[in-house]
Amino acid sequence: YVTIENISKAFKGQTVLHDLNLSFKQGEFVTLLGPSGCGKSTLLRILAGLTSPEQGVIKIDGCDVTNVKAKDRQIGMVFQSYALFPNMTVSENIAFGLKMQKIPSETIKQKVARMVALVGLAGKENAYPRELSGGQQQRVALARSIVTEPKVLLLDEPLSALDAQIRKNLQKQLRTIQQELNITTVLVTHDQEEAMAVSDRIYILNEGRIAQSGTPHEIYTKPGSEFVARFIGNYN
Ligand code: ATP
Ligand code: MG
Repeated sequence: YVTIENISKAFKGQTVLHDLNLSFKQGEFVTLLGPSGCGKSTLLRILAGLTSPEQGVIKIDGCDVTNVKAKDRQIGMVFQSYALFPNMTVSENIAFGLKMQKIPSETIKQKVARMVALVGLAGKENAYPRELSGGQQQRVALARSIVTEPKVLLLDEPLSALDAQIRKNLQKQLRTIQQELNITTVLVTHDQEEAMAVSDRIYILNEGRIAQSGTPHEIYTKPGSEFVARFIGNYN
């Protein structure tokens, strides 16, 4: 459904992604897991169309989108710094992408109401971001990114700024929403526990290469290398 074929990327002559091949099935929740600096965010940005690769092809739904602009890729994104519009309410933030698409206002209202309910923010529709907790802001960012019904949802450490309890809650919610909408999701994290908790499948990256891919259970029970064993060994 989504394929990443022979992708390489270098910054100033330094190769950070080495000829990578990955694929994500429709509705699959896949995590890119690996230590800081291994190239996770770069790969996600290439998938989003925010960075162009030196080499390789990205396909969504069988179409080559390698040269398609970010805004035309039908991708939703949530990053660690959620960057909501501070002068817009929760509803206005969520509605923003729909307004850009010139969708009738009655339809926008319905879609926003559905999202507000889905992410558990009923009663907060008219609040401004500064009046929300970090976890609530993340949920607005999530609602905003999925209300346009993107084909693929990309999440770059969206929960890492949150405390452990809220984080666990949001992981569960994220998984539930993702399954309800059957949206293909790629999560970047360096948190083994998070990857194990939410993923259908995990790619472990190390220094711009895929160290192993498999289900959480496969990776946990049969680590393919000492690196994976050590990296996953931190998980408890
Ligand atoms: P983290 O877990 O710390 O977010 P990451 O796996 O997301 O790490 P990337 O941000 O993809 O890592 O960076 C991979 C490598 O590419 C790093 O060595 C980084 O210094 C380098 N890099 C990333 N972006 C740029 C850039 N715009 N210019 C130069 N080098 C970059
Ligand atoms: Mg990163």
